[in-house]
Amino acid sequence: MCGIVGYIGKRDVAPLLLEGLQRLEYRGYDSAGVVITGPKATGLKMVKAKGRVRDLEAKVPKRFTGTTGIAHTRWATHGAPSDVNSHPHLDPENKVAVVHNGIVDNAQELRAKLEADGVVFASETDTEVITHLIARSEADTLEQKVRDALKVIEGTYGIAVMHADFNDRIVVARNGSPVILGIGEKEMLVASDVAALIAHTRQVVTLDDGEMATLKADDFRTYTTSGASTTATPETVEWEAASYDMGGHDTFMHKEISEQPDAVDRVLRGRIDDRFSTVHLGGLNLDPREARTIRRIKILGCGTSYHAGLIGAGLIESMARIPADAEPASEFRYRNPVVDPDTLYIAVSQSGETYDVLAAVQELKRKGARVLGVVNVVGSAIAREADGGMYVHAGPEVCVVSTKCFTNTVTAFALLALHLGRVRDLSVTDGKRIIEGLRKLPAQIEEILKTEEQIKEIAAEYAGAQSMMFIGRVRGYPVALEASLKLKEISYIHAEAYPASELKHGPLALIEPALPTVAIVPDDDLLEKNRAALEEIKARSGRILAVAHQEQAKADHTIVVPKNEDELDPILMGIPLQLLAYHTALAMGRDIDKPRNLAKSVTVE
Ligand code: GLU
Repeated sequence: MCGIVGYIGKRDVAPLLLEGLQRLEYRGYDSAGVVITGPKATGLKMVKAKGRVRDLEAKVPKRFTGTTGIAHTRWATHGAPSDVNSHPHLDPENKVAVVHNGIVDNAQELRAKLEADGVVFASETDTEVITHLIARSEADTLEQKVRDALKVIEGTYGIAVMHADFNDRIVVARNGSPVILGIGEKEMLVASDVAALIAHTRQVVTLDDGEMATLKADDFRTYTTSGASTTATPETVEWEAASYDMGGHDTFMHKEISEQPDAVDRVLRGRIDDRFSTVHLGGLNLDPREARTIRRIKILGCGTSYHAGLIGAGLIESMARIPADAEPASEFRYRNPVVDPDTLYIAVSQSGETYDVLAAVQELKRKGARVLGVVNVVGSAIAREADGGMYVHAGPEVCVVSTKCFTNTVTAFALLALHLGRVRDLSVTDGKRIIEGLRKLPAQIEEILKTEEQIKEIAAEYAGAQSMMFIGRVRGYPVALEASLKLKEISYIHAEAYPASELKHGPLALIEPALPTVAIVPDDDLLEKNRAALEEIKARSGRILAVAHQEQAKADHTIVVPKNEDELDPILMGIPLQLLAYHTALAMGRDIDKPRNLAKSVTVE
């Protein structure tokens, strides 16, 4: 779930690994550890600590030198966060060291078997079974020892393994949790996230599920868990190391909110075709004839990506007139869904590694469905498993909660909707109208960002609230859902989102001065209906913040956003509410980039 970094080469490895772990801190974790060795077989040296990477750093002794090592940030799944439960896990003879992301599903059973054989466990983790299994394999090579262990393991893993008797190599393996090799000059790296690599190399190899690799200082090779060689051609990562610095902002979240005009510009770039008032999406692998045969669209995602999917479904229905809906991928895969050959499935994930989404994609593919991916991370698992798709080009998103990636994903859906619409019945005139709207987005986002001071003042008022209500109608409802999630995630204020039309059917009972309502009130065909909802709230002495295209008389505050085309308004209306969540959380002294209990990419179930 969390972070792995490994290095083999000539450099002093400990500082390098600690710096790598810092690059992964944004993903959220509860403890950290590092193990190293040198070229002269000096055995393994290890330090582990509950808490932050700086707590680990403080425990590292003066003489902690070596040229090979693996390190980890842990997000506990089995056993509480503690020094002993931190990774790496060593066998009793201190020969084998393992770091692991993921979950061993049959850990309990394997542990019982090993204990019956006399093995004494040092930790409560599932990971430790992998260490003992490797240590007990009688194979002659480290690769085969690891393979022997993986044969009996069920579950997900990204692992990196060192062995005191094979100190010229690191062996790694992947199943459901990312492992990326960094190819250097006479040095090799490995990490679970490119963020930890790009300070050292741009040449990377992303392992597939079921793939392993052996890293030596001047060489690497990849092969499957059954031992067959695979070909791996290094790719060049384009992301800048600077994306992982805060660049003058106090938090990554603030930086990423501010980057949205450029990010949206990137998702549009090179895709608009003015001649036919449409967009080119080369990666869809869907020719016009196929596009015309789609009878339904089902969008799958989790959390913020699910909300982006809800807006996406609305865009597709309105522009392409194809029935579309979104569902949490985590629910979809467990309800034995009817998989229909005329339905196009779209999987949405920032990281492209979200376990529930990936598992849904695999299940759909197994049943012969056509699946597209809408992801941010190039070359990620979902991007590779899907039949085609779109990259949203938000650039690296470091803050645990998603902002620019959400906006870019929704914009990508607008492109897809326009594309499908123009293949079907959307007129040239409407195509043109939408294109003009899309082109206006970056400048309009810029304008919204200028209202930050006003939003900050409003946020100061709401920072004391116990609970908040978010309402919207049709296009505005998913905006309300996402805004309420954002507020929950970083401020820990309880928030509810309801369709404004549902107020009378229950939630109106909650309205009183202590429960503020945030209302999405676009200037569209539902304006009067939305205004009526504000009246109802005001009549119960509720406080109202409206996000609207003009001042709302019934609201205590209005954040006025620029008007775009009705279809595209939801893209803009969410942005001031990112700032509202941000400033509310800031006023409450929250750790914005690392909200409690959350991790950036959820690569476990
Ligand atoms: N399941 C392992 C543990 O609880 C690994 C957790 C992780 O992915 O960080 O130690």
